[in-house]
Amino acid sequence: MTPGRYLALRRLAAGLSRADVESLAGLLPGHMESLEEGAGGWTVGKMIDPATAYDQLAGAFPLCPIVLRRLATRERVSVCLGCGCSELDACDDEEYGPCSWFGPAHCTDCERKGVLPE
Ligand SMILES: [Zn+2]
Ligand SMILES: [Zn+2]
Repeated sequence: MTPGRYLALRRLAAGLSRADVESLAGLLPGHMESLEEGAGGWTVGKMIDPATAYDQLAGAFPLCPIVLRRLATRERVSVCLGCGCSELDACDDEEYGPCSWFGPAHCTDCERKGVLPE
């Protein structure tokens, strides 16, 4: 998974459009598109930096700085293909509590909601 795909999953899981996030985070129009599409430009300390992106977006929707950094540096990290949650930031449903892995690619929360990976 690319860092941009992760951001898109987390944004969609929060029910936000790119424009919503740009307005919530005070970013210029088009900024989310460049983050989500700019997979090749993600490099620690350069171009699209994961720490900078996290600082910009953390107030707008839930995302995990560690997952974002690992994806940017191509380290191994398991992320749900339905909603972008991970062991480091599991879903926390009011009724059902934290999610776990349902299968190799998606979590119990996505399974219950019928949000299956593509
Ligand atoms: Zn999920
Ligand atoms: Zn989950």
